[in-house]
Amino acid sequence: MKALVIEDTVTSATLVCHQLRKMGLEPTHAKDGSLGIEAFKASRPDLILLDIIMPGMDGFEVARRIRQLERDGEWTPIIFLTARTSDEDLQRGIEVGGDDYLAKPVSEAVLGAKVRAMQRIAQMRYSLLVLTRKLDDANSELRRLSSVDGLTGIANRREFDETLLREWRRGIRSGRPLSLLVADVDYFKQFNDGYGHQVGDECLKAVARSMQSELKRPSDLLARFGGEEFVVVLPETDIQGAAAVSESMRRAVEAMGITHRHAPVPGVVTVSVGVASLVPDRERRPEALIEAADKALYEAKRGGRNRVTIKMPGIGSAPLPSKA
Ligand code: GH3
Ligand code: MG
Ligand code: MG
Ligand code: MG
Repeated sequence: MKALVIEDTVTSATLVCHQLRKMGLEPTHAKDGSLGIEAFKASRPDLILLDIIMPGMDGFEVARRIRQLERDGEWTPIIFLTARTSDEDLQRGIEVGGDDYLAKPVSEAVLGAKVRAMQRIAQMRYSLLVLTRKLDDANSELRRLSSVDGLTGIANRREFDETLLREWRRGIRSGRPLSLLVADVDYFKQFNDGYGHQVGDECLKAVARSMQSELKRPSDLLARFGGEEFVVVLPETDIQGAAAVSESMRRAVEAMGITHRHAPVPGVVTVSVGVASLVPDRERRPEALIEAADKALYEAKRGGRNRVTIKMPGIGSAPLPSKA
């Protein structure tokens, strides 16, 4: 434990340093306020013993400056060391950031007791810091967990809702189109019934992975909407761009080649995708985009599944030209 003694009277400083050394501390002596501040900056002591009456900068000013120099969360106990023991001095000392007061000539027993008390406070404070850090870590982990889907590890519904709303508002400001796609695994009930729920879960994880691998922009968000339905938010993306992403995702899922012999026509696991795009405005809500993409998805299912259908709200829907 390092102690810094800031004291202009050499005899007093020598005595205090000697006593501190006897207590097992490592004292450094600074003979005026400015030197004391420099020593504080250089060695960051665990305890400061500070004289009040010194030529140049007095102890009150030194304490005030040291408190300003401390970084966030840092605290160095300061014990004023002085012949002056009026109530007013004591009050002022605490006001400028001092923690305790010791009358000169310093009694070894009193110094020892005060040093131990400060050590105890420092220890408690340290424990509190460790605990606070653990709490912060736990909180950020909780925040992360609350936004992630437990099965697939992609964003969950909550995160999707937040992102869509945020991007909707951004779209209103920027006037750029916002696209949304909804993908649903084809004949997944039969897959689950035929292979079992666990294989079904593995399949959903694989579908999430393959869809994620088709997203290139950091602002794009793939989320699990629920069950075997996935959604993708594509900010600043027009319908052509969104249709291209949808088609590449559809193809990626098909290309995994996960056997699905329980489908009406046995083959591999596929997804149907509905896409919608619009420029957000104040007259509508983001739900308008979800509804439009949902309608497009319904038409993709009706049209035979494993396909992409696009919908421009207010204009109508059409199958993606490149497919069918
Ligand atoms: P369609 O092609 O029309 O989409 O038919 P479908 O069978 O995929 O659609 P449906 O909505 O009838 O069935 C969805 C099934 O997805 C129901 C359930 O068995 C399965 N499912 C939903 N959530 C999960 C999940 O978390 N894990 C697993 N293993 N299966 C799920
Ligand atoms: Mg003095
Ligand atoms: Mg479904
Ligand atoms: Mg389905």
